[in-house]
Amino acid sequence: MNAMDAQKDYDRMARRVAIMGGTFDPIHYGHLLTAETVREKLQMDQVLIIPTGVSYFKINRNVTPPDVRFRMVEAAVRDNPWFFASPIETERDGYTYTVDTIHQLRQIYSDSTEFYFIIGADAISGLSSWYHVKELVSLCHFVSVNRPGYDSIVPDIFNEEGCKGFYRVSVPEMEISSSDLRERVRRGESIRYMVPEIVEQMIYQYGLYQE
Ligand code: ATP
Ligand code: MG
Repeated sequence: MNAMDAQKDYDRMARRVAIMGGTFDPIHYGHLLTAETVREKLQMDQVLIIPTGVSYFKINRNVTPPDVRFRMVEAAVRDNPWFFASPIETERDGYTYTVDTIHQLRQIYSDSTEFYFIIGADAISGLSSWYHVKELVSLCHFVSVNRPGYDSIVPDIFNEEGCKGFYRVSVPEMEISSSDLRERVRRGESIRYMVPEIVEQMIYQYGLYQE
């Protein structure tokens, strides 16, 4: 039985499922605390952390291979019974589009399941240019979370008919970003207490972000 099949049994029961998508290069405590806060405040039954495959937006940068980013996410969420690392995008070839992912999840979960996509204030302004965004907002709710240095805006698309819903959840501000973490590793600076210990170990073990 592979990981996807094993998850399916549990998935059928889930009703409120939060999704956090991202490059997670690497996953850090900003991501984890944000997801946990949303889970608690919006009473989610499950949180899926979904690292992107080949991201359309980040094609220009040297992104860590999908399987390595997935393994870091998997290790980071292991001790949280509500959190699951999903390989749904890292196992898919080519570009990843959130709308395709939601369609795929729809087939796995019961019809009564509602999906809530967590998105940081830095990313929400770009939402209107996402692939098939109109369809996307008709398929899942969006939860906007604050992020230091960014204003939380409500994209116009949520005023249109047919969209599921837009929520704002206030999370503790954590000035941690993956780009800063990569810079720190490259400069030989400490990343302790910014990422789970296991993630820190994997970064050094795989020799990530050295150059
Ligand atoms: P990078 O610097 O490489 O862009 P990142 O830290 O922004 O990395 P992503 O993988 O791009 O991490 O982000 C995934 C999701 O998590 C996005 O919706 C982003 O807005 C959100 N996010 C990332 N860091 C934080 C944080 N410190 N607080 C709240 N939300 C965050
Ligand atoms: Mg980012």
